[in-house]
Amino acid sequence: MHYQSTRGYASSSDSSVGFSEILLGGLAPDGGLYLPKSYPQVTADELNAWRSLSYADLSYEVLRKFATDIPEADLKAITHKTYTAEVYKNARPGESAQAITPLRTVVEQDGRKLVLQALSNGPTLAFKDMAMQLLGNLFEYALAKNGAELNIFGATSGDTGSAAEYAMRGKKGIRVFMLSPHQKMSAFQTAQMFSLQDPNIFNIAVEGVFDDCQDMVKAVSNDLEFKSRHKIGTVNSINWARVVAQVVYYFRGYLSATTSNDQKVSFTVPSGNFGNICAGHIARMMRLPIAQLVVATNENDVLDEFFRTGVYRVRKSAETYHTTSPSMDISKASNFERFVFDLLGGDHARVKALFAKVETHGGFDLSGQAGSDGDEFKKVAEYGFVSGKSVHADRLQTIRKVEKEFGLTVDTHTADGIKVALEHWREAETMIVLETALPAKFNETIQEALGRDAERPVGFENIEALPQRFEVMPADVQKMKAYIAQHTGL
Ligand SMILES: *Cc1c(COP(=O)(O)O)cnc(C)c1O
Repeated sequence: MHYQSTRGYASSSDSSVGFSEILLGGLAPDGGLYLPKSYPQVTADELNAWRSLSYADLSYEVLRKFATDIPEADLKAITHKTYTAEVYKNARPGESAQAITPLRTVVEQDGRKLVLQALSNGPTLAFKDMAMQLLGNLFEYALAKNGAELNIFGATSGDTGSAAEYAMRGKKGIRVFMLSPHQKMSAFQTAQMFSLQDPNIFNIAVEGVFDDCQDMVKAVSNDLEFKSRHKIGTVNSINWARVVAQVVYYFRGYLSATTSNDQKVSFTVPSGNFGNICAGHIARMMRLPIAQLVVATNENDVLDEFFRTGVYRVRKSAETYHTTSPSMDISKASNFERFVFDLLGGDHARVKALFAKVETHGGFDLSGQAGSDGDEFKKVAEYGFVSGKSVHADRLQTIRKVEKEFGLTVDTHTADGIKVALEHWREAETMIVLETALPAKFNETIQEALGRDAERPVGFENIEALPQRFEVMPADVQKMKAYIAQHTGL
């Protein structure tokens, strides 16, 4: 399997960039995103054979189509180490931890079904564990093979940073330096990250806001000499291995919700950076029988706007809202370029021009209207995409409705998904909504909606009281670099 950039790097037939080469990286050298040169196709026989597999074996079968340069026995060992009932142990009462991403029928009426697929049973109670846990094991494996080291440097306002830390803790050859805005995360999220005592995890609380943290990461990343001397890397959502790891649960959800390949299902996905649902698109391109892919956004509706109008318009910081589904608070959708590449029939030059226009003009227009950049919006339906939006009042109402009618507490992001799923749920259709977090993570809004606390999984009862390990630092790039240099010893 060979990879190319959406903007053309490595796209000629004689170039060969493999999975292992892009595993530890982010953007391609031309600023584009990596994609395979063609999507592997899954046959009906394969799908049938996969129905009875464990999650670990299914993930091995999917991954081996993409990671062809990792010996199969090694890949199998890595997937079996990652997808265990011990790692994904936070299943709710009545759910099977063994299933890793258990399905729960919320309601069945008039021959149609609404189902939740739990992606949030991992160590940080959010779906980013699904991919990040695999990434931790893949990174450790790849670094050991080359006798190399990696220092992951990132900024977080919550979910991504904690998922990265729990995936990389105790891993040989890896350190994590994670910036977060001092005293601006919820008490639960702070406790999750700062209670880690592993010596390879460095929590840095920056005296500033999240944007200050991100600016510091950019400043360090732009210093190429420093970056290479200190072996600095990232684990952001555009990482290809993260996307592939997410493809697996679309297969699992489909196979668990159906009995034959003649049946189709639809998925609704709470979306921000288009990472999660991009994996659904790829599963569909591999011929998984998915009918609709429903994009659900919060108030930050960049993606909903595109899927309704064909206009992609990124937001400025001042237009980016802080919402009660904060893990979807984005100003642009960093994985969206992968879908645009497919929508444009793999035209590297046009992708490059459109995303250059995002930088210079804040967006592009594929509506086909006079003066637009193209008319590909009319093809979006062929890819199954539709969308919708949910705001704070919808979120509260959905949390209440789901509790009252179905006896289930859902988190704020999942509530956005359910609200939008109900708008697109068709006759005789099985609609799977991806549950992206457990409600305990966003307790403030659960209290607002239900007037009580969210249940906490076993072991999380008192995490705010655990000893915390972190360093407070001013928003000063020189001090940050000195801190990294001191702790990498390079
Ligand atoms: C990250 C996240 C999302 C959004 O996922 P994308 O891949 O960025 O679209 C949704 N819900 C939760 C709980 C998250 O942590």
